[in-house]
Amino acid sequence: MPEADLKTEVLVIGAGPVGMTLALALAGDAQRVLLVDRRPRGAWAGDPRALALSYGSRQLLARLRAWNARAATAIRQIHVSQRGGFGRTLIDAEDYDTPALGYVMRYSDLADELDTRLSSDQILAPCTVGRIEAGADEAVVTVTHEGQTKQIAARLVVHAEGTPGNEADVKMHDYRQHAVVAEVSTTTGHQQRAWERFTPDGPLALLPLDDGYSIVFTVPPKKAEHLLALDESAFLTALREQFGRRIEFTACRARASFPLALRVRSPLVSPRQVWIGNAAQSLHPVSGQGFNLGLRDAWELAEILHGHSDPGDPAALGAYVRGRTIDRRGSMAFTDGIVRLFSNDIPALRLARGLGLLALDLAPPLRHFVARRMIWGARAWL
Ligand SMILES: Cc1cc2nc3c(=O)[nH]c(=O)nc-3n(C[C@H](O)[C@H](O)[C@H](O)COP(=O)(O)OP(=O)(O)OC[C@H]3O[C@@H](n4cnc5c(N)ncnc54)[C@H](O)[C@@H]3O)c2cc1C
Repeated sequence: MPEADLKTEVLVIGAGPVGMTLALALAGDAQRVLLVDRRPRGAWAGDPRALALSYGSRQLLARLRAWNARAATAIRQIHVSQRGGFGRTLIDAEDYDTPALGYVMRYSDLADELDTRLSSDQILAPCTVGRIEAGADEAVVTVTHEGQTKQIAARLVVHAEGTPGNEADVKMHDYRQHAVVAEVSTTTGHQQRAWERFTPDGPLALLPLDDGYSIVFTVPPKKAEHLLALDESAFLTALREQFGRRIEFTACRARASFPLALRVRSPLVSPRQVWIGNAAQSLHPVSGQGFNLGLRDAWELAEILHGHSDPGDPAALGAYVRGRTIDRRGSMAFTDGIVRLFSNDIPALRLARGLGLLALDLAPPLRHFVARRMIWGARAWL
């Protein structure tokens, strides 16, 4: 093993929302945690995404004193429907024992709040991460920061670098869809209602944010290019076509698009290393599960590490992997199933979807399952 210049107990690669959550959740432990990121701190300013956070995520962030209430807009109702087909359902917080089904927050506000809770000596950024050499007792990572290359030894390296590229350990299913995101204003306000509308191109979500909505418009890649190229008024017309006269859109701010694929890593651990958040699994954004799942990864890893003096102990990492299996599989199956069932225009499936939405509306246990998944994620069936 190379000689180390710096030693830490846990080295987290990727100071995104999941990596920062882990560092906060481990704070107070004797274990020293260092985060490294290839981008400078605060580089997330202007990220166009807004995230739907479950009520359960709010509770976890509040326990870390990282819940930014001012930046959160509560969702009290979710209206689900399909374009060109019958059936709709309404999920209402009043039916559950929570003040809200979930919350909407800009990615940048979430990251800012987590970042302010971390001290400046906990993050090395921007930097380039090179070789990782894992031995029996530690891993040594080559990191270049401010022109200087250092070897950092850690007992555990946590990968939280976000969505992976093409790697042998990552299985990928390309949805052939892009998510066009933007913030829009309306004349009517949102009354804390989110809309999930299934169209043959893909799902379209309107998430209440401040006085307007954050939209996630899922369409084939060519159509995404077209939507990005439209002027504001033509874009609002395209949006109106999906919703009819129910909502009057008046203005739209900057638009951006993200390619969508399901990426699942296996195995999740190797000697002295573990993968969490999007680095472990990247999901389609329908029903807003991705960050909520990554937050639970970070939380549960921290819970397990609290009980181990050696954070890279294979027994601890094995327990982590076993503990995350049901939540990961359930969240992936839930989002992937919705996308495959709803993103098409096959008449028989349109009918089946209509019946499904009707069943959700008429059968409280089914609706409660979906609602509990939105509110709690993994604990939907408890
Ligand atoms: C359009 C869209 C809408 C979404 N909506 C929702 C939603 O409503 N609800 C929800 O829960 N989730 C949603 N998601 C998913 C959510 O954005 C991700 O799950 C979440 O950002 C994952 O956080 P992360 O910290 O794992 O990764 P990231 O947010 O990608 O952060 C990764 C960090 O690692 C750094 N990094 C990358 N590579 C390296 C490297 N080699 N070395 C060092 N650092 C590196 C990056 O600079 C970054 O800071 C949405 C995603 C998209 C695309």
